[in-house]
Amino acid sequence: MKTYKYLILGAGPSGLALAHTLKELGEESFLVIEKEAVAGGLCRSDVVDGAPLDIGGGHFLDVKRKEVLDMVFKFLPRSEWQEYKRISKIRIRGIEIDYPLEANLWQFPVADQVDFLESIAQAGCVRGIPTPESFEEWITWKLGERIAQEYMLPYNKKIWSTDLNRIGIYWLYKLPDVSFRETLQSCLEGKPFGTLPAHGVFLYPKEYGYGEVWKRMGDSLGEQLITNTEISSIDIVNRVVNGCFKAETIFTTIPWTIWPSISNLPDEIKEEITRLEFSSIDVDYHTEDIQTDAHWIYEPDEHLSFHRLLCRNNFTRGRGYWTETNSRRALEKKGWRYRNKYAYPLNTREKPDAVARILQWAGQNKIIGVGRWGTWEHMNSDIAVSMGIETGKKLWKGEVL
Ligand SMILES: Cc1cc2nc3c(=O)[nH]c(=O)nc-3n(C[C@H](O)[C@H](O)[C@H](O)COP(=O)(O)OP(=O)(O)OC[C@H]3O[C@@H](n4cnc5c(N)ncnc54)[C@H](O)[C@@H]3O)c2cc1C
Repeated sequence: MKTYKYLILGAGPSGLALAHTLKELGEESFLVIEKEAVAGGLCRSDVVDGAPLDIGGGHFLDVKRKEVLDMVFKFLPRSEWQEYKRISKIRIRGIEIDYPLEANLWQFPVADQVDFLESIAQAGCVRGIPTPESFEEWITWKLGERIAQEYMLPYNKKIWSTDLNRIGIYWLYKLPDVSFRETLQSCLEGKPFGTLPAHGVFLYPKEYGYGEVWKRMGDSLGEQLITNTEISSIDIVNRVVNGCFKAETIFTTIPWTIWPSISNLPDEIKEEITRLEFSSIDVDYHTEDIQTDAHWIYEPDEHLSFHRLLCRNNFTRGRGYWTETNSRRALEKKGWRYRNKYAYPLNTREKPDAVARILQWAGQNKIIGVGRWGTWEHMNSDIAVSMGIETGKKLWKGEVL
């Protein structure tokens, strides 16, 4: 039996950031356990057809969080990253227009602008109608019937591949209401309005895929990271993992839905875990080049299986593009494909209560959920890193986690 103060389950961005924070603070008694051969989780990359490809889907680094950039640049210095002004498009009515749609209606021919302006004028949020509770209704309430039918509903049906009425709206509170007045003004003046979307500017490695930084973070942990080691059993009472690693506290960044089959959880927690759902994403590589200046394109057309297309020659080396498709919609595999079983936690209506109960029970048993799967939250890698750093710092100060 090998004994540590801390075991960290999973070497994605959150587990890696936690491990490096502990190390920086002088804590050496920890081990990170990872099932894959290389660290990085959803942020890993491969070389496909001679150039980088992000196997978890297109990944770009947001530049807003200083503590995250400080950690990331320690392993992949700033000089090895290229900054890009985001160009993302939506394919709709046969043309590509800039994202977000409501700020860029002016790019449509006039007849289409009129259609979409009418939709916004009729939107529930513009008319002061109370916010509905289901995601499907919320979409129409937010942007009106026509934009919902042609863009938001088909796109969301594609990416989540589930009944949208089962999705809650608690995760959408940050999205500002659309303004009819501003949209009209933008159409009349022929220019966009409003704030830039998240990732208005982003960084991508010059020579490598996004995975390089996480691979380096993993490598620099030396023997404090073991790879190719799937967590197959967890004894909760004694906090023993795989029968041979024991810890005072376990940090889990692996999906809670794995836990019932590998640990002795109480029945009521098993029951809560059955309420957690996720979606899987297939990443498929295609060799042809696409003529566009976009870094990526959203595709709401339900006749096409994928929902996003990444034009890699516009942000890294190589030719071709890759697509992201909900695995439930995947067509027969024709070329290179990577299936991400755990891609998106689903924000079902019952999720927040279930997660709160699981994390409360876990905390009482010195098991702490961190990152995307430890908290079952949509988060970008910068937030996952931030959470890893915060968790490490709190632990060091002896604060309650
Ligand atoms: C399609 C897509 C696009 C995205 N785009 C962006 C983007 O542009 N920018 C951005 O910042 N973020 C993006 N993200 C989000 C980003 O991928 C996540 O926020 C980040 O990977 C979360 O890190 P994590 O460590 O919490 O989880 P993960 O990266 O999922 O890491 C969990 C780790 O646990 C390991 N594990 C699981 N089960 C076991 C087991 N039984 N035993 C041992 N190990 C196990 C996994 O192999 C993995 O390494 C995107 C996500 C997706 C799906």
